[in-house]
Amino acid sequence: MSDTTDMEKTEPTGAQWGDPSGILRQAPMTTRFAPSPTGELHLGTAHSALFAWKRARDAGGRFLLRIEDIDTARCLPAHEAQILRDLEWLGLDWDGPVLRQSERTEVYSEFLHVLEEGSLVYPCFCTRKEIQAEIAAAPSAPHGPDGPLYPGTCKNMPWREAKSRMEAGEPYALRLHMDRAVGMTGPLTFSDERFGDMQVDGLSCGDIVLCRKDTPSSYHLSVTVDDATQFVTLVTRGEDLLHATSIHRILQTLFALPAPQYHHHGLLLDDSGQRLSKRDKSKAISALRAEGLSPAEVRALAGFPDDQGL
Ligand code: GLU
Repeated sequence: MSDTTDMEKTEPTGAQWGDPSGILRQAPMTTRFAPSPTGELHLGTAHSALFAWKRARDAGGRFLLRIEDIDTARCLPAHEAQILRDLEWLGLDWDGPVLRQSERTEVYSEFLHVLEEGSLVYPCFCTRKEIQAEIAAAPSAPHGPDGPLYPGTCKNMPWREAKSRMEAGEPYALRLHMDRAVGMTGPLTFSDERFGDMQVDGLSCGDIVLCRKDTPSSYHLSVTVDDATQFVTLVTRGEDLLHATSIHRILQTLFALPAPQYHHHGLLLDDSGQRLSKRDKSKAISALRAEGLSPAEVRALAGFPDDQGL
């Protein structure tokens, strides 16, 4: 059920990787749990929280809680309040105040500006529907880890046209000019405790969106900025996000931010071997609590039985 056995004995006190200035090496060992309040805490996300919390506490390090709520259309304060209650009920405590990404949009804009200055982003006026239609009409559509890649419709738009459309108030997203970015950074790697030294493969992710008109940042931009500015030395998260780390390493390098150590843990599976889904309400912590389970029993279901040292 859990992958606690694959933890390493030695704790990284800072990144050994991509940290030429040694900033993270001097920082106390720090992990974080960064839920998006788009739903309740369930066993799968509780596993991630317990994993990060336990690593920090075992090492006498810091455990941070960050609410990733930049997508205000999908994130609800009620979910955030429930997540905090459930974490406390599970016995988790965190260091310092909770950081909310929705309160940091100016910081992300400043970082985005660096990319704009370097001509590493371009405005994209395509709607989701237009992108789907273009992909459907193409003889072949390259796929990345998150589905078909953006076909590049707006990539070579003359600047004059882009400028006048922006000035006319047409909604647009800013996309990373991935091939330029990769050309600038050169080959990169990251270090993962489970997967070893990994090659960064940005091109397979395509020209990802870094902000939209209604969302002034993106997961990739915010997580990269926050992990570095919060001095997180060990980023732990599910292995479903392994591919995203390529994007984060590229952004870190463009911003001259240090790279943490990574640990992409295994995912909890249900009885039929399927990944636990947020949609399965019976696996919500609040539902298990209402059934009368104790925090220790729920921790065990989340892969951390107390006899394994919680
Ligand atoms: N907000 C992301 C999620 O809930 C966190 C991913 C991460 O830990 O980087 O999936």
